[in-house]
Amino acid sequence: MPAMDDQVVPYLFEHASIRVQVVRLTRAWQMLHRSHDLSTGATHMLGRCAAATALLATTIKFEGRINVQLQSDGPLRLLLCQCTHELGLRGMARVADAADLSEAAGRDSLQGLAGKGHIAITIENTREDKRYQGITPIMNDSLASSFEYYFDQSEQLPTRLWLAADAQTASGLMIQRMPGGDTREEDWERAQRLAETITADELLGLDAQEVVRRLYHEEDLRRLDGRPVRFYCRCARHSVSAVLQGLGEAEVQDILAEQGRVKVNCDFCGEEYLYDHVDAAALFADGTPQQGPDRVQ
Ligand SMILES: [Zn+2]
Repeated sequence: MPAMDDQVVPYLFEHASIRVQVVRLTRAWQMLHRSHDLSTGATHMLGRCAAATALLATTIKFEGRINVQLQSDGPLRLLLCQCTHELGLRGMARVADAADLSEAAGRDSLQGLAGKGHIAITIENTREDKRYQGITPIMNDSLASSFEYYFDQSEQLPTRLWLAADAQTASGLMIQRMPGGDTREEDWERAQRLAETITADELLGLDAQEVVRRLYHEEDLRRLDGRPVRFYCRCARHSVSAVLQGLGEAEVQDILAEQGRVKVNCDFCGEEYLYDHVDAAALFADGTPQQGPDRVQ
């Protein structure tokens, strides 16, 4: 595995307040989608969303996490990616029955895939139990342009984004004009123009340093410390138990009577949680439902 994979690697222009961030996920991405039974097109779409979510998560300045949720009435029903402030990433996708997402396999376009819908970006401060949410309409031309719109509206931060994914690799390039500083309009224009020449194949094939060298070899950029990204699912038996307790004893007993056991699979990592009669009895033994810290979603 190349040394710069599974990291967000930031760069700063020396003579302008422009930040460049490159992420190339390999092992983290392969682990994220290995338990999902998705078509090639849906997998690539999830990969682009995962790369974008990892880039977004680097902007969290507190203990918390970011949720990116695309919901639409088109063939691509749901894309959901979550990333913690420590860059622990997970995600899932749902596609309408028999939908063909082969359109999404090669390029970042939502044309014909997402109908009416929106992307909700929620940043949770878990220590203070606060949430901030921005809702962005789905820009049909691409997932990347939907995120650019979000940054423009919610963060007032001019941002450009390029995303690419296949089954092995999920990559993203983000450039942002940072507030303050003495960035000239022509510097920002030039940074964008150069970035626009990146291809999906280059994003998938080159590491961060090669991407930046390829685009900005005539510019003066400083590399900052990369931040590792890993696959991380926070599901746990106690949170599954809390959901079952929430369902109620009668419902759980019905499932047991019908199926002999209760089986719950995590939508994100595929982990299987099994409850037999003894486990189920223990769930309701003291008569008071317990709330775990997290809900399984
Ligand atoms: Zn899980």
